[in-house]
Amino acid sequence: MIDSYGRKINYLRISVTELCNLRCKYCMPEKGIDKCSHNDILRIEEFLKIAKSFVSMGIDKIRITGGEPLVRKGVLTLIKGISQIEGVNDLAMTTNGIFLKEYAKDLKEVGLNRVNVSLDTLNASKYKHITNGGNISKVLEGIEEAKKVGLTPIKLNVVLIKDFNEDEIEDFINLTKDYEIDVRFIELMPIGALKYWALNRYLSSDVVLEKNKELIKIENADKSSPAKYYKLPNGKGRVGIINPISCKFCDNCNRLRLTADGKIKTCLHSDDETDIGKVLRSGENIDNTIVEIVNSKPKEHNLEQGDYINRTMTTIGG
Ligand code: SAM
Ligand code: SF4
Repeated sequence: MIDSYGRKINYLRISVTELCNLRCKYCMPEKGIDKCSHNDILRIEEFLKIAKSFVSMGIDKIRITGGEPLVRKGVLTLIKGISQIEGVNDLAMTTNGIFLKEYAKDLKEVGLNRVNVSLDTLNASKYKHITNGGNISKVLEGIEEAKKVGLTPIKLNVVLIKDFNEDEIEDFINLTKDYEIDVRFIELMPIGALKYWALNRYLSSDVVLEKNKELIKIENADKSSPAKYYKLPNGKGRVGIINPISCKFCDNCNRLRLTADGKIKTCLHSDDETDIGKVLRSGENIDNTIVEIVNSKPKEHNLEQGDYINRTMTTIGG
């Protein structure tokens, strides 16, 4: 599928639940979010139908996210179904890793290719603080298990947070010396109810290169990826930088997002949404809606002009 600006759209991110077992300070308000009515949340077979239509129209890369995807009942059934759709070349998941140890083997068996794990600190008490109670040991055990069963290449997502983890950047980079892992530093984005928290804690990703002059730039074969990649001399893994704020990458954007309540977002930083779940439930064929959605994808976001969205990140999936 080609949008109005000539971009090839081949990537769908599916948020399978807005619920989460953590409360990361930049993502989920401590008291939780106003939940959608249970009936508004798509059923597993509805996610599957929508995914099938998107793949038949040209999507070949799908990511399962949330909320926390591993708290969604039926997630293995969904992954199995998606992995069997002809045309899906890459099926990945973004998870906080808390339940990964228990799920890794089954995830691999039902056809998941790989995982991205979110981890903003390597320190147990800081982890507990930023996630409002999470246990880092579970995440580390989950990563080990994912490695063991072959949910690889594993990528670690590290959100850069001022006065919280800038002193750990080097430790994260050093993980790539010995492990075939991608450590990706992501700039904190002002989103939803926690936008002001994020604005106060924003740290430009420039700090990563300023503090680590030995990093060598490498070519990223995936031109649509928002990450720029670097490597330590002799490093086994890569260091990625994702900077939606200081350097926007809309020109190469290839993605659409499906929320748990059945809305398609064509841009993470826009509140515009199309209720594809409603169209599906009306019994209409959704292919025409997909064409309209792709044609309506905006040229770029306007974050730098202070256009911040209302939905919380946990209902979109990053
Ligand atoms: N619960 C899963 C997890 O944490 O990996 C999947 C959903 S989470 C919303 C997806 C990604 O979005 C995580 O890597 C998280 O760190 C990132 N994220 C959440 N809020 C963010 C924000 N305001 N700015 C930048 N990244 C954010
Ligand atoms: Fe949950 Fe992921 Fe958001 Fe943390 S970043 S609160 S783990 S959805």
